[in-house]
Amino acid sequence: MNTPVDIHPARVLRKVRGRATSDGAGVKLTRVIGGPDLPDLDPFLLLDEFGTDRAEDYLAGFPEHPHRGFETVTYMLDGRMRHRDNQGNEGLLTPGSVQWMTAGRGLVHSEMPEQESGRMRGFQLWVNLPAREKMTAPKYQEFAPERIPTASPGPGVGIKVIAGRVGDVEGPISQPATDPVYLDIALDAGKAWDYVLPEGHNAFVYAFEGALTVGEGEDARALETHEMGVLGGGSGLSLRAGNQPARAILVAGRPLREPVVRHGPFVMNSKQEIMQAFVDFQEGRF
Ligand code: FE
Repeated sequence: MNTPVDIHPARVLRKVRGRATSDGAGVKLTRVIGGPDLPDLDPFLLLDEFGTDRAEDYLAGFPEHPHRGFETVTYMLDGRMRHRDNQGNEGLLTPGSVQWMTAGRGLVHSEMPEQESGRMRGFQLWVNLPAREKMTAPKYQEFAPERIPTASPGPGVGIKVIAGRVGDVEGPISQPATDPVYLDIALDAGKAWDYVLPEGHNAFVYAFEGALTVGEGEDARALETHEMGVLGGGSGLSLRAGNQPARAILVAGRPLREPVVRHGPFVMNSKQEIMQAFVDFQEGRF
């Protein structure tokens, strides 16, 4: 690894495979974080992968529902999804686009497919907010694919930088509270890439095409397609594709280390705040 000797290598502490579930009005998806195997990975509360060619798996969409106390991050790979909220915001997520939505004190929105056939594929990640920002005004950071820069650190390595930094390429997302890294990494067959994770962040790699190896030597572990590796042990990350091209997301964030009390679409710090969220929602204060 071409990193300074004082950087310890990161390794896979545990592997997680998502579980098939459905959400919204019956959209089929795979829950990787937020299920019984991995309830959360501070500051990440949920990771869903959705990917299907069958319209009946996604057509029902996610009709109106509230959120409070955290951020939802939608990264579309294929397909088109329209979002609308009760504060007049509306937009169309196209393939390769990212929506980083800070729900803050609350909004009610819908996320509905804008297609009746074809492939729908992508990820939704939930990122917690610190107590001091849970009741902030809602806001969106939304970027079309051409506004997400690509780093090319070597031959056969291409990295879309959604959040964080790769060399001198900086992602467009700003979130000082958790200082997130969100990369879409494409490796040609046999190609490798080394990266230094921010010190103290929690991090994971999720392979979504092909297979890759995380770490080197004795600590190396393979991730098959649709497997997540929770990282730890150090910040020097080394990834290598197998005999086929591989693609993975790498996500990292600064842990908040605060109490998490969650109920459906509300994530707060205490039961009382969750009850207040229900009252505020029922009385139309979102
Ligand atoms: Fe939502």
